[in-house]
Amino acid sequence: MPIRILPDEVASQIAAGEVVERPASVVKELIENSLDAGASHISVSVEDAGKRLIEIADNGAGIPEAELPLAVTRHATSKLASAEDLFHIETLGFRGEALASVGSVSRLTITSRPKAAEMGAVLQVDGGHTQKSQPVGAPAGTVIRVEDLFYNVPARLKFLKSDRTERRQIDTLVTRYALAYPQVRFHLRQEGRTSLQTSGKGDRREVLATLYGVDTAKQMIEVLAQDEHLSVAGFTSPTSLTRSNRGEIVFFINGRPVQDAALTTALVQAYHTLLMVGRYPLAVLFLEMPPEMVDVNVHPTKAEVRFRDRDQVFRGVGRSVRRALLAHTPVPEVDQLANQLRWSPTSGGSRPSQGVDPAWGLAYAEGADSGEQLGVSRDDQPNPVGDQSSLPEVNVPLLRLVGQIAVSYLVAEGPDGLYLIDQHAAHERVLFEKFMQQRGNAIASQALLEPETVELPPASARLLEDQLGVITQLGFQVETFGRGTFLVRSIPMLLSRLDPAAALRVLVEDFEEDETPLAAEIEAKIIARVCKRAAVKAGQVLLQDEQLALLRDLEACQSPRTCPHGRPTMIHLSVDLLERQFGRKGAR
Ligand code: ADP
Ligand code: MG
Repeated sequence: MPIRILPDEVASQIAAGEVVERPASVVKELIENSLDAGASHISVSVEDAGKRLIEIADNGAGIPEAELPLAVTRHATSKLASAEDLFHIETLGFRGEALASVGSVSRLTITSRPKAAEMGAVLQVDGGHTQKSQPVGAPAGTVIRVEDLFYNVPARLKFLKSDRTERRQIDTLVTRYALAYPQVRFHLRQEGRTSLQTSGKGDRREVLATLYGVDTAKQMIEVLAQDEHLSVAGFTSPTSLTRSNRGEIVFFINGRPVQDAALTTALVQAYHTLLMVGRYPLAVLFLEMPPEMVDVNVHPTKAEVRFRDRDQVFRGVGRSVRRALLAHTPVPEVDQLANQLRWSPTSGGSRPSQGVDPAWGLAYAEGADSGEQLGVSRDDQPNPVGDQSSLPEVNVPLLRLVGQIAVSYLVAEGPDGLYLIDQHAAHERVLFEKFMQQRGNAIASQALLEPETVELPPASARLLEDQLGVITQLGFQVETFGRGTFLVRSIPMLLSRLDPAAALRVLVEDFEEDETPLAAEIEAKIIARVCKRAAVKAGQVLLQDEQLALLRDLEACQSPRTCPHGRPTMIHLSVDLLERQFGRKGAR
């Protein structure tokens, strides 16, 4: 076939493929247009999962009749004048592509009236063919009807998922925008039934409940942190609320939903050692930064972005989430009598703290009342996104050792009752933090009197070879010694109780399991794994000195309440609970 320039119509359809993949992408583009037009009320109506009809009505600025044909012309936009503008975009749209694309794969009708205009106008585009506009009486604002989506590109229709899935995508999408713009009143109707309605009163928590359901929404922890160039706000789940995948992690950057694997990783890392392996948090986080700090023009649907300073953004996310989490990680309280949340330091109290509904969890900056109630002291200074060292500490109080029971648990007394401490989990936490502390400097290592040879199966050997650098930093001195054989010359001091071969095998197991080999993450995971092996076991008798040392070490930990794998290290029985259990106080 000779080379030919494609007819406009075909070129449009090809381009439309990038922007308009499914009904939800139409809804996304139209909502963004309404938001850009300053609407405070947006109502969306969907029939036949968006294939028959998508209609969006807003009360925004409207489009003058003279500009209507331009609105549906490719690369025509009111939001960008020069290439220079691309570097500080403050609107959601700017490519001037959406309406043209939608118009080329559907029957599109735009009815609009700017407030100041007496008459509105209507314009139709049918499979890319634009008709003449007509004056028409219309309320101020814009109504966009998209009918018979993909009627002229049946191949696209075949790629759509089931109606249920397409509908769910629309639900999710509109809900996310409703969350990002709580001051805008959204109404979504699917197949004649209202599926989402928000008040536009600016309350994100209210919208959150429609996204997750009331129960889950109540448990979400508020994140709120700000520095000069970056603000991070939103919600993230407590460690007790997780999913088996990253699907419920949502980021908005400057009001725009964004998919970014690295941001997600930063968030997941903030949970490091607080979650079980293979579990992921739920989160909706809104990042705000100066527009020139982020390039949004890297993807046709604007779902991906590029940051001027990636690291700054990732650190900011990690820190704000970590801080919110640490301030919230409770000591589980055994409390069957009071029918309250089990994980309850922020909600178990009868006193709401400083105007915050306790059931909602607290922003890290809110003064929490748990200090006195649980005997847990903490530093709740609001910190801007700043240095790691100023993380709030979630200490345990000074404890008086009572003894060991069942050869597995320590019993101790605190200012407010009894603490049962799992000796293995606690020791794991202690070793882990000691390791992590040393990590910045040199990790103390101990040379073996005789180097020891360890043989590994080929796959494991290859894994280990690839990671020799990381291992060295952890205080191992290991050399390759022919096929599958390694020579261990020294091991970290903290592991001196372990047999070197066992220590090395632990490392390899960890590499095999790891699915996201990010250097820092690997290292911390390895350390957690190694500490688990090295920690005292349940069933091991501890001398009184050893019990005491463990308690003191635990008190000194930054996150003493969980082991590095996220399980609790201690259970707290408050005096209050004991009194109720013994009938000294009226049971509620
Ligand atoms: P972009 O949003 O990238 O500018 P679109 O194709 O989505 O491109 O829209 C083209 C133009 O039509 C916009 O720049 C805007 O001027 C106008 N427009 C579209 N939708 C609306 C709306 N709901 N209210 C007011 N103006 C709109
Ligand atoms: Mg647009």
